[in-house]
Amino acid sequence: MKWRDLMCGEPRADRVGERLTLAGWAARRRDHGGLVFIDLRDHTGICQLVINPERSPEAAPVAHQVRNEFVLRAEGELVPRAPDAVNPALPTGEVELQVDSLEIVSRSEPLPFQLDEEGVDELTRIRYRYLDLRRDHMQQNLRISHTIGAAIRRSMEEQGFIDVWTPSMTKGTPEGARDFLVPVRLQPGTFFALAQSPQVFKQLFMIGGLDRYYQIATCWRDEDLRADRQFEFRQLDFELAFPTREDVLDVMERVVRASFEAVGREPPSLPLRRVSYDDVMARYGTDKPDVRFGLEIEDATEVTRDSEFGVFGNAPAVGFIRVPQEFSRTELGSLEEVAKEWGAKGLAYLVYDEEGEVRSPIAKFLSERELATFRSDPATTVLFAADELPIVRRVLGGLRTHLGRELGLIDPRRDELLWVVDFPLFQHDEESGNWTFMHHPFTAPLPGHEGLVEGEPANALSQHYDLVWNGWELGSGSIRIHDSDVQAAVFRTMGMSAEEAEEKFGYLLEALRMGAPPHGGFALGLERFVALLADERNIREVVAFPKVSSGSDPLTGAPTPLPDEQLRELGIRVVEGNGILGRERSVRDGDTGTRSS
Ligand code: ASP
Repeated sequence: MKWRDLMCGEPRADRVGERLTLAGWAARRRDHGGLVFIDLRDHTGICQLVINPERSPEAAPVAHQVRNEFVLRAEGELVPRAPDAVNPALPTGEVELQVDSLEIVSRSEPLPFQLDEEGVDELTRIRYRYLDLRRDHMQQNLRISHTIGAAIRRSMEEQGFIDVWTPSMTKGTPEGARDFLVPVRLQPGTFFALAQSPQVFKQLFMIGGLDRYYQIATCWRDEDLRADRQFEFRQLDFELAFPTREDVLDVMERVVRASFEAVGREPPSLPLRRVSYDDVMARYGTDKPDVRFGLEIEDATEVTRDSEFGVFGNAPAVGFIRVPQEFSRTELGSLEEVAKEWGAKGLAYLVYDEEGEVRSPIAKFLSERELATFRSDPATTVLFAADELPIVRRVLGGLRTHLGRELGLIDPRRDELLWVVDFPLFQHDEESGNWTFMHHPFTAPLPGHEGLVEGEPANALSQHYDLVWNGWELGSGSIRIHDSDVQAAVFRTMGMSAEEAEEKFGYLLEALRMGAPPHGGFALGLERFVALLADERNIREVVAFPKVSSGSDPLTGAPTPLPDEQLRELGIRVVEGNGILGRERSVRDGDTGTRSS
């Protein structure tokens, strides 16, 4: 017995007269007196079945039992539809299957939502993902994801990379998140960390002479879930030996082009722009700017140095953006709230009305020179931030992004990809007061900046680069440290004692002392890349079985507590606390994470 001869979307007029067996889901059943019509569906499309009691008296009673989403197998003759029944909207619309025998292969309970229903709540969709997957939307997204994955693999192989697997269970791999831990039954009280990335392993591959490695690697990071973040995600991870920075960027750009082409989208023009970290921070206040619109930050620190307006005069830095809109008091009030979310204490503004007259409580304190600097076109609002420079940038960057979206300044048909380069090597860790790495501790200083690692860490720049698309960070990479002395100096600057460095990364320091070639690489967040190529704003739309923001999987109910016996075996005792209760609460609230997106 054969289940089917063709997929449901395949029958065409050229097969009229053939006997065919089709199988699929009943998408719709219509009873027209004696005649029953069923739309039989699979992922390729729909074929109409006709069950005529006069032609097949056995099939007719079966057809009456059919309900939505029953799985059917139908055998019959492909016939042309009557001219007035042809459906030009359907690829199979010229034909139908005159059914001789109909079998109910599998029944379906009434579904929690109809597959053609719009606006089904996301939690329900994820809870019943196997139903959601039957819908075109998810079918398309997962197939796009596959197409891109295949294009990436082809491109990497054409470029001479080999696919090598690395362990998931390993030692902590510092990528700036918490580790997920795996208890080890054979050695109670010890834990593996799930790899936050294959970072150290790929460096060891270069030391091991593999030369060009890649992998579509799953990574695990324990951090809050967001529109562009899940606990586990995949990266196109690669590393090459003896590269210049441009070599690495070129590999990635080829992958970008191949992926765009694979989904029939016009690739961005290459090479992509390279912009320094300093430049993007000054102009956009973020290292992942959406440059599809203006509203660039302007600096006013100099001109406001002796300002009579104390908020400006006393601030270490002052910046502003000019927004082409005459905001009302109420609008300015809500913008102030946005500014506060980003760390501002208040929001100073100058509103230029239609006539170009300025309206602002602070205007009377400003000098001619200040007013001349801020002078803007009629119907413009100038928004200020005055604080430490990083806060000024953060606030104005946050306002800029908010307003870009709110005021519809973003052209959704535009794609803006760019490289951000020359990041600082270190940043200040406010909690510990120490220097910490900006990305991971294996990033090489810019040539000539090695001496600054311990002397002037604040001024040491790195050979790190980020790929940014329309305001999303798609991935990061760097040229790595291949000299164990430089690596040890970086650990020292981070406040690690020699013992601690040895305990955590001794194996790497040792490998670096045994013939390490210069090397560098990159990792591209696959789900983010696929989401953007699929025009989705949330990576959950391209993940088959995502978790919601509470960190739970509504489908399986994971994570769950474990029986005492199993815990005992692992040498683990659970301390009762609010963690468990907290989790239950957020699942019940149906929080899918859209709020924080
Ligand atoms: N390991 C880095 C990350 O996961 C990427 C890299 O530096 O290649 O972001």
